[in-house]
Amino acid sequence: ARRVHLAARPFGLPDTSTWEVRDTELAEPGDGEVLVRVTHLSLDPAMRGWLNDVRSYVPPVGIGEVMRAFGAAVVVESRDPAFSPGDAVAGILGVTDHAVVRGDQLTPIDLDVAPATTWLGALGMPGMTAWFGLFDVAKAQPGDTVVVSGAAGAVGSVVGQLAKAHGCRVIGIAGGAEKCAWLTDELGFDAAIDYREGPVHRALRAVAPDGVDVYFDNVGGEMLDSVLRTLRLRARIAICGAISTYNATEPPPGPAHYMSLLVNRASMAGFLVFDFEDRYPEAVADISARIADGSLVAREHVVDGGVDAFADALLMLFSGANTGKLVLAV
Ligand code: NDP
Repeated sequence: ARRVHLAARPFGLPDTSTWEVRDTELAEPGDGEVLVRVTHLSLDPAMRGWLNDVRSYVPPVGIGEVMRAFGAAVVVESRDPAFSPGDAVAGILGVTDHAVVRGDQLTPIDLDVAPATTWLGALGMPGMTAWFGLFDVAKAQPGDTVVVSGAAGAVGSVVGQLAKAHGCRVIGIAGGAEKCAWLTDELGFDAAIDYREGPVHRALRAVAPDGVDVYFDNVGGEMLDSVLRTLRLRARIAICGAISTYNATEPPPGPAHYMSLLVNRASMAGFLVFDFEDRYPEAVADISARIADGSLVAREHVVDGGVDAFADALLMLFSGANTGKLVLAV
């Protein structure tokens, strides 16, 4: 088999020194294994991340290893009763023309439903990313204004079309007039913004003056920052990817480690206590009971001196001079 191996970890964009093409004799499939002929390989932004020697949602590709890749293939020889020669399958096959894989790592694909390429796109990982990201993570609702970046790509183009069909107002952000025209003219997006033409937040204010309910972020970095300026009350942001940062050689501006939210499926939400006013009695009952039984410490730091001491006392918060609740006795 002819395969692409990782030769060296790239700094910035991968180049020829990153890869090494090798011809390797494939072993016969063992029990439960399947020999496949690869027909299509999926090229994914995530591949760049797999080259970095950092803790993430999957281990990095090791130096010398075959590059990890999703692919579609045809079964040549099978020692797994679930598959027969000629079956169309998909799975993590690696950048190779033939592979021996465990049958339980393969998914059958139905070429009568769609061609193999679509099983790597809208019906594959990118399509699943769009569907679950939009409905489960971002909780898009009919009537929402949904903004998606990387809108003319594999994930983004599906996000926008699903959102549109769900009754949302959809704005795509993509690079170039041609992509933007495709989004509005062919895919039915309500508006498209060419981010190369100027600041995204200004363009967004023009097409979505009332703000954004959902931002499906594929790009990250400055674009995320721009969209943050246009959020509406109770907006949701799905952090799907940050392709603008993948080849960066320096940390991006802003919270440099926010992709930890993606890796750890963590969420970050803003809130205001006043929204819970109706439920204050519930919290007061709970906290006062804990104070009464001694299980919660209510410590105050009381400063004397009355209103004349106000100016200095306020600064204590910023120098850290208080422990517990700072109070001025008047
Ligand atoms: P795409 O098909 O969207 O291809 C990448 C596109 O990103 C390019 O066509 C380009 O479009 C855009 N792009 C590249 N560099 C930049 C940049 N510096 N600034 C702005 N846009 C840029 O790829 P996918 O649909 O496969 O992936 C989209 C995103 O989804 C990626 O961030 C990926 O990592 C993420 N993803 C996340 C998954 C998850 O489980 N969380 C799963 C799958 C994908 P343009 O011309 O518009 O710039």
